[in-house]
Formats: sequence, C-alpha cells, structure tokens
Amino acid sequence: MKILVINCGSSSLKYQFIDMDGEQLLASGLVERIGIEGSQIKHEKTGMDKYIVKEDMPDHKSAIGYVLDALKHDTYGVIKDIKEIDAVGHRVVHAGEKYASSVLIDKDVLQALKDCIPLAPLHNPPNIIGIESMQDLLPNVKMVAVFDTAFHQTMGAEEYIYALDYSYYEKYKIRRYGFHGTSHRYVSKRVSEMMGKDMKNLKIITCHLGNGSSIAAVQNGKSVATSMGFTPLEGLAMGTRCGDLDPAILTFLMEHEHVTAKEIDNILNKKSGVLGISGISSDFRDIEEAADQGNERAKLALDIFNNRVKKYIAAYAAIMGGVDVIVFTAGIGENSASNRAAICQNMEFLGIEFDTEANKVRGEEKRISKESSKVKVYIVPTNEELMIARDTLEIVK
Ligand code: ADP
Repeated sequence: MKILVINCGSSSLKYQFIDMDGEQLLASGLVERIGIEGSQIKHEKTGMDKYIVKEDMPDHKSAIGYVLDALKHDTYGVIKDIKEIDAVGHRVVHAGEKYASSVLIDKDVLQALKDCIPLAPLHNPPNIIGIESMQDLLPNVKMVAVFDTAFHQTMGAEEYIYALDYSYYEKYKIRRYGFHGTSHRYVSKRVSEMMGKDMKNLKIITCHLGNGSSIAAVQNGKSVATSMGFTPLEGLAMGTRCGDLDPAILTFLMEHEHVTAKEIDNILNKKSGVLGISGISSDFRDIEEAADQGNERAKLALDIFNNRVKKYIAAYAAIMGGVDVIVFTAGIGENSASNRAAICQNMEFLGIEFDTEANKVRGEEKRISKESSKVKVYIVPTNEELMIARDTLEIVK
C-alpha cells in the first residue's frame, strides 16, 4: 500500500510518499509561499536530484495539484496514475479532548477539527484546508487525521488542569494539551525496540528539541506529562518562544510597553527564547558559533536552554518514580553533541553515566550512555511522517 503523508501549514506544505511494503520513502517535498508571490515546489524522488517548479500557487488546492503532478512526473515521478495513491495521512495539530488517537476522516471529524479552531487558530485552519483540497482532488481515497495532541490525552487531571478558576476549564477548555505527540510516540516506541524491551515496562523521558521544543514523560507506553501546554508556548525555552514564565510579566509588559494582547503574543512567540536572550539568532548553530567565539549572551542563551531541559528531566523522573531511558530527538537533540552533553552533565545522582565519546555523532540512532549506566540515554532521529503513514495504514486496512 502506498500512502501520501501531508503536513499543511499556513503558507507551506510538506509531503512524503511512502510504500508501506518495507516502509520505503519513494518521494518527498516541500511547497513554499502558497498564496504569496514566489511560490515553488521542491520535489525529490528518493535517490535523485531535486525537481523544482516555480509557479503561481494562489491556494493550497493548486499547491496540492502541483504535488500530484510531481508524483506523476515522467522523470521525477514515482507513479503513473494518481489511482496508485492508496490513502492519505494528514498531520493535524489540535483535536482538543475529542480524539486520543488517529481517526478516519469523515464529516464529523472535519466538524470536530473546525470546532477546535479557537484552540489552534494558526494551525487547524490550514490543516482543514489541506484535507478539503485533498478530498476535492482525490474524492475516492480514504484519509486519516493524525493529531499532535492525541498522544498526550492519557495525562491525568493533576497534570492537565491549571491552577486557575476551574470554570475556565469548563467554559473554554483551558487545560494542558501538549504537542509533538506523534514524535514523542515514535521515539518512545523506537527506543523500546532498540533496547529490546516492551514499552509497557519502561519509564521514558523523550526530549524533542528543535525549533519548537518539548519534553514528555512516557510511562508504560502512555504519555503522563509533557512540557507544552494549552498552546506550544509553555515549557522549554525555544528558538523564539519564551516557554515557562511568571504570568505577571505579561501584564507588566502590557502596561509598561503599551502593547496590546496581540503584540504581547507576538513578543512571547516570535521575539523571545534563545533569539531574544542572545539577540543573535533562533538557530542553535549560529548561537553555538557565537558562544564559541566568546559571545556572553549566546552562552547565556544556551545555558538557559539546557538548564530548563535538565529541570524537566528531573521533574519527570520524580513524577514517574524513576526513569529508565532518556531520548534526544529533533534538530538540536539529534545534531548538537554539546547541548546533549551539557544537559546530561552532573546527572550521576539520577543514575546517568554519560559517554562523551559515543556522543560525538549526529543524526543517527545510538546509545550515548555507558554500558554500566543505570539510566540509558539514546539519540533517536524522529520520523513523524512514518508514524502518520503507519497509523493511516492501520486504520484504512
Ligand atoms: P522544526 O521544529 O522546525 O521541525 P527541527 O527539529 O528541524 O525544527 O530543528 C531545527 C533546529 O535544529 C534549528 O533551528 C537548529 O537550531 C537546530 N540544529 C540543526 N542542526 C544543528 C546542529 N548541527 N547543531 C546544533 N543545532 C542544530
């Protein structure tokens, strides 16, 4: 069975086309600047050069049209007819409390996603447009929605209820939802396989450290805690997001900087995090380079980032009554040896014996704790698309 995985953003669209017999990636690509001048698709048939088309793409439906054309292309294509697409898996950000696992998309599901727009005003609308455009172009193909929030629906109320007037939960559904669920699920499952253990017998802490970062505590195969909250703003310091903050800072800034709610939202989401602290960049490669050259604020940004990851690891070990394995994934987690080393430094009290030599790798599945370490540490490159394709296969089968 061949499955197309779609991840629709407001002006971009990522896709992968996977043959599930052997889980082989046939092609992948990215459409950028949808609805903006300069739209283009970068398509890559596995093992070949990129095929780039620069054309006007006024909306997602036209962008998807170009994706289907690229998949059928004489040289760069991988199918002769769109009938060879057996199913489509859509990444959807928010399902509120409605879905705790992936679902076959029908009218009710689409309505539920629309009902969740107030919870994810930037993310759910393009996800919905992607689904509806796909349905127009491939009306007979089964489609599945895989949610970022779903994996964390197993958290207990002591984790997801905020210490606010309870009526806000009842009235607005203000609670912790958590995100990156597909990634936390994938790497926790994968690390269990690598260890030759059943997930049901493990206490795992998964650190998804990328542009957006979050940590999850996965106990007996279920997410029991995660650092992102009502929105992806909570938790770790990120590329441009502030993460945990004294909420009184918001009202202070609004008063003293004379900014509106919308402006403060922009400050906390786009101008904070390691970008805000360093004043250099949101990209850890730039910050690490500046820190190496002696830039103090770049060094401080890294220290703050790593310090907070450490705090969450210890907190989650406490919540689970211990930890068997810690997993690093996503852009920073997979690639930055120095951040991993800084996070795992002085963690012997928790049972971590870090292997500095083994840590000198990038982007590969590997154990980076010593053989004798009570708590294991692994790098597991994430693969959300494969997880989406697997869910899709299982549901449409
Ligand atoms: P996204 O959340 O957009 O999916 P990624 O998981 O791809 O992000 O992570 C992107 C981030 O990973 C970049 O901003 C960069 O900071 C970081 N990164 C990538 N490669 C390296 C590297 N070699 N060293 C340090 N950081 C890296």
